[in-house]
Amino acid sequence: APVVLWFRRDLRLGDHAALLEASKHSKHVLALYVLDEALLKPSGDARTAFLYGCLEKLDEQLGGRLMLVRGEPAAEVVKAAKKIGASAVHVSADTGPYGRRRDAEVAKALADNNIDWVETGSPYAIMPGRVTKPDGDPYRVFTPFFRAWTAHGWRGPADTGPSLVDWVEPPRTLKIPKAPKVSATLPEPGEQAALDTWHTFLDEALETYDTDRDRPDREGTTRISPYLRWGCVHPRTLLADLAGNDGVGAKSMRGELCWREFHADVLWHRPETARKNYDRRFDKMKHDSDTEAFERWCAGKTGYPIVDAGMRQLLAEGWMHNRVRMVVASFLVKDLHLPWWLGARHFMNHLVDGDLASNQLNWQWVAGSGTDAAPYFRIFNPTTQGEKFDPNGDYVRKYVPELRSVPGKAVHKLKERPKEYPEPMVDHAHERQVSLERYGQITS
Ligand code: FAD
Repeated sequence: APVVLWFRRDLRLGDHAALLEASKHSKHVLALYVLDEALLKPSGDARTAFLYGCLEKLDEQLGGRLMLVRGEPAAEVVKAAKKIGASAVHVSADTGPYGRRRDAEVAKALADNNIDWVETGSPYAIMPGRVTKPDGDPYRVFTPFFRAWTAHGWRGPADTGPSLVDWVEPPRTLKIPKAPKVSATLPEPGEQAALDTWHTFLDEALETYDTDRDRPDREGTTRISPYLRWGCVHPRTLLADLAGNDGVGAKSMRGELCWREFHADVLWHRPETARKNYDRRFDKMKHDSDTEAFERWCAGKTGYPIVDAGMRQLLAEGWMHNRVRMVVASFLVKDLHLPWWLGARHFMNHLVDGDLASNQLNWQWVAGSGTDAAPYFRIFNPTTQGEKFDPNGDYVRKYVPELRSVPGKAVHKLKERPKEYPEPMVDHAHERQVSLERYGQITS
C-alpha cells in the first residue's frame, strides 16, 4: 500500500530521515502539506511569504506532485491517507508545544482508522529531550549541554533525494497561495538556495567566522537561519560538512548550531517558557507600559543609532544580525523597561527565521529570566556596543539613511544630529540605574 509523507518543518528531499523510512515501507509515497490556520495566523507575512516560496520549490522538485490542503490537520491528514488507501503517515517529529499537541490528535485520528503514524528524525541533530544529565535531569546551562550533546553524537545525513520513491499523483490539491506582499527583501526560498547559501559560507567565511560573527557590518555569518527554520536543510548536513574540522571557525559554528538545539531542548522540557519566565522570580519584575516608546523601538526611531539600524534591518530584510538582536532586545528590556514578550512578539511578526524556541528563549536570555541567562547587571551600553562591533559605522549608515553624511564611527556618538534624526529617547546611564534597582527588588 502507498504511504503519506506529511511535510511540516522539513521542506527538502535531501538528508530526510522520514523520507528514507517511508521508502522502506512503500515505493509509492504521497507528499502532503496542510495549510493550518493555527500556524498561519500568528506567522508574520514575511515568514508566510518565504514558506510559500519553499512550497513552490518543493513542488517543483516533486514534479508538481505536492498535495496541498487547507484545514484541521487531524481531519485533513486522515482524509488524504484514506483517499489513496495509505497504510501509514510518515513525519519528522515536531517538538514544539503546538506541534506536539496537534500530532497527538492526528496520530489518534489515524489510529481510529487503522493507519499507522511513524515519526522519524526531527529538525535537530539530536532529538530534544534526549541529551540529559547522568541522573536524567535536563540541563539548565549551555556549556555542559554542549559537552554532553557533542559526546552523544548524531547520525550521518540520510541518503535521500527526489527519485528515491515514486511520488503518488495527488487525488486533489489546492494551488499554492500567492505570497502576501511584503516590503522586506526576502532570501531565495528552497533547498537548493539553502545549500548554495551554506556552500558560499564554507568557501568564503567559515575561517573567519569566529571573529566576524560579531560584526554586523560584515557578511560574516551563514544566514542559514530561515532555511533551518523551515527545514530546507537539516543541521546534520551542516555538521557533516564540518566533521573533522577543528579550526576555530568550525568549532564556533558547531557551538552556535548547538544553541539552537539547547533552546529546543529547554522548550521541550518546559513548554510554558514560550510565554512565561523560565526563572519565575522575574514574574515580580516591574515593567513600564509605554506604547509610544514601544512604537518608536519598533520603527527604529529611538535616537540610538545601532538600535535603530537593527530595527530597520529587521523591517527591510526580515532578519537581523545576532549581535544587534542582543543589543535591541537589551534596549527594550533594560532601557525602556518593557516586558520581553512584547519584543519577542514583534520579532516573531517580522523575522523570516522566527522560531518559537530560539526566539522566546533568546529573549529570555537577554532579559535575564531564561536558563543560563546573561547576568542581569551586565547591561549593554548601546553606544559602546556600536563602537565596538560596527567600528567604522558602515552598518548604521546602511540602514539609517538620515545618518549617511556622518563619517566613520562618529555615527555612534553624534556630536550634532542631522535634524531628521531623533534625540535619544532615554538617558542610558539613568535607565541602567532604574533597571538595577528593579532587579534588586526581585532578587533581595
Ligand atoms: P550564524 O551565526 O551563521 O549561526 C548559524 C546557525 O546557528 C543559525 O542559523 C542558528 O540556527 C544557530 N544559532 C546561532 N546563534 C544562535 C542563538 N543565539 N540561538 C539559537 N540558535 C542560534 N534565531 C532563530 O533562528 N530564530 C529566531 O526567532 C531567533 N530569535 C532571536 C531573538 C533574539 C533576541 C536573539 C538575541 C537571537 C535570536 N536568534 C534567533 C538567534 C540568532 O540571532 C540567529 O539564529 C542568527 O542571527 C541567524 O543568523 P545566521 O544564520 O547568519 O547565524
